[in-house]
Amino acid sequence: MSRIAFFCIPAWGHTNPTVEVVRQLTAMGHLIRYYSFEPFREKLESAGAEVICCDEALPPQPKNLDKKVGRDFAALVEMVTETTLTLEEKVCRELEEFRPNVIVSDSVCFWGKLFAKKLGIPYVCSTTTFAFNQQSAARMKPKTGELLRSLLGMPRISRKMALLRRHGYPVDQVTDLLQNDNETNTIVYTSRAFQPMAETFSERYAFVGPSLPEREERVTKRSRPLVYISLGTVIHDRKRFCKNCAAALTGMDADAVLSVGTADNLEALGSLPSNIRAEERVDQLAVLQQADVFLTHCGMNSASEAIWYGVPTVLDPQQSEEAAVAARIEELGMGLRLRAETPDDIRKALETVLTNPVYKERTERIARSFREAGGAKTAAEYILSCCER
Ligand code: UDP
Repeated sequence: MSRIAFFCIPAWGHTNPTVEVVRQLTAMGHLIRYYSFEPFREKLESAGAEVICCDEALPPQPKNLDKKVGRDFAALVEMVTETTLTLEEKVCRELEEFRPNVIVSDSVCFWGKLFAKKLGIPYVCSTTTFAFNQQSAARMKPKTGELLRSLLGMPRISRKMALLRRHGYPVDQVTDLLQNDNETNTIVYTSRAFQPMAETFSERYAFVGPSLPEREERVTKRSRPLVYISLGTVIHDRKRFCKNCAAALTGMDADAVLSVGTADNLEALGSLPSNIRAEERVDQLAVLQQADVFLTHCGMNSASEAIWYGVPTVLDPQQSEEAAVAARIEELGMGLRLRAETPDDIRKALETVLTNPVYKERTERIARSFREAGGAKTAAEYILSCCER
């Protein structure tokens, strides 16, 4: 039996893929301790982990964390540095008692990596986005606003790096924390076929494909196409966008499900024609099992889930990480980029993807690569192969 410690930031997109890996490992009889946060406790415990919540160590902006991860890099670095130093004494002591055979830490949960290095415990990096190195970074062109914020944030980042060094952590520059390197054992929840520049990543990378919960494949026969629209769980104030979607779908020969994120957005929609169903949040995997096209913000999870179910996409990325996912989907011919968020453009893009079968055929090709990649089971086996015995 191995003892394995997991670390993750408080974000669903980063936590969800690890849940099924934990379930696999505990089913095999291994002992999992998961350092996470209160909102994630129940789900992780139900997968069999012992959960230690670190909420008290978070600086006081956890509600915006998801947003900050994507938009204000310096804020992310400040947050993780503070969290590392606050957790350091307690967690290092606990880890010395627990004696994990390996630490699995999310690629942006730097404290897990830092504790592993400090204590000399084998480390596996868990990457829920595309793997990221110098070559692939060149593809993620940040928007001007993001670039400006990053540049303005550099002095703040340097101060935190210096602080970490004073505490004995071997970090020269922020890329030591951020970037994947070819010597680190790394799990990536996508396939080599979907990963951009996959050939630049070494054999230490296990591209295991999406790690989704097992569920019954259930497809009901529909008389007309089903459109699904969601911009994810992070960017919430989208009243105009929601209204434009409703206008685009009104009178269209299709049924539609809109996941609008908040009660405010839902209220702004008012009463809708009978072919449109809008909800604050939906069971996205269940909807994707039925859907014929998905208008998505291209969060990595949403994109992977769409591909898994062979659903072609209309692409409306909101930030640079999502733009990289959108660019890859476009490059592989699986989706069409939305020109503008107007009713006319939304309707035209949806209709183009619905009527041109090539989008679906290409999506199904990558879906096959996902299924062949092995998912949570392969991730679990990989982690065990990295355990110190
Ligand atoms: N999701 C869901 N119901 C919804 C909207 C989203 O279950 O109504 C799930 C979706 O299946 C995905 C996650 O929330 O697993 C969103 O993650 P993603 O990386 O796509 O985007 P984020 O919300 O982190 O920007």
